[in-house]
Amino acid sequence: MGELAIRAENVTKVYTGRRGRRPVHAVRGVSFDLVTGGSLGIVGESGCGKSTLARLLVGMEPPTLGTVEVAGRPVVASSKAERASLARKIQLVFQDPFSSLDPRLTVERAIGEVLQVHGIATESVAREARIVELLEMVALGRRFGRRFPHELSGGQAQRVAIARALAVGPMVLVLDEPTSALDVSVRAEVMNLLIRLQGELGLTYVFISHDLSMVRHIADEIAVMYLGRIVESGPYDRVLDAALHPYTRALADAVPVPDPKIEARRRAEQDVQPLAIVEEPASGCPYHPRCPFAEAICRETVPALLTLEAGHDAACHVAAREHQATAR
Ligand code: ADP
Ligand code: MG
Repeated sequence: MGELAIRAENVTKVYTGRRGRRPVHAVRGVSFDLVTGGSLGIVGESGCGKSTLARLLVGMEPPTLGTVEVAGRPVVASSKAERASLARKIQLVFQDPFSSLDPRLTVERAIGEVLQVHGIATESVAREARIVELLEMVALGRRFGRRFPHELSGGQAQRVAIARALAVGPMVLVLDEPTSALDVSVRAEVMNLLIRLQGELGLTYVFISHDLSMVRHIADEIAVMYLGRIVESGPYDRVLDAALHPYTRALADAVPVPDPKIEARRRAEQDVQPLAIVEEPASGCPYHPRCPFAEAICRETVPALLTLEAGHDAACHVAAREHQATAR
């Protein structure tokens, strides 16, 4: 076992409703450990709390409850010095690459600014060399340094955002749907770039996606979120091929099969009801209103996330009972 890069312990975020609005429980009791060099995929539908969790992990917002530790140190970014020291360990890459780029700054100034703030390569020759090195790392030539954000394609802008995140030499990258806003044609390139960078730099990834198939090539472990909670987690192959939670099974069934003929047949056979986000029910398992297997207990009690197989956890009353029965 390697060293822990990041640990989340009961991380919870409640947005208190302004006058008249109800509070939003965006993230509820999320816990996980991730070793240095590892990669965790976090998957769930839009609105399940993925981006909120991402912001909590990097210290952009404080959790309402719970703690995040990066390299053994709690993430509390209250002072300027603490924020800077945290930023050198963990960085967030956003879904929309343009959101993290100032339209008035050229690429080289955008990267140079980060180096300057962190006192890295302060001498101008060294800084210029480091900027070129970072651009080459993300497979952009030095000529891109002169461009403004509006002169970049989405894929190029995301590479610049990645270079900027890497400028401080962080150990952990939290990637919040980094390819979702990009053209389908460049998604694979950016994914391959991320995979290569992870190997070369020994990075630890928290890779967030609404699409289970996107995390296949990048995540060893995955956590499935539903309405703010982790409902299943474990090794990618086990979770995809032998899902314990009915929600994960529904997500896995929605993953397209590469063969178009098989895919067409599969879609025809499948109940292609879109997975629409629903409100948390007043009691019981948050998934029970959508669950075809729901029983009385599911309507009454929230199931705990339990380890049902080695390294494979699920929060499901029915799965837990079946596992107990087969274990006997
Ligand atoms: P995802 O990234 O999975 O789509 P988000 O984390 O963006 O989900 O949102 C989770 C829930 O929290 C949503 O109901 C969203 O409306 C709510 N939410 C997110 N940010 C805020 C905020 N700053 N204030 C109030 N509610 C928020
Ligand atoms: Mg999001």
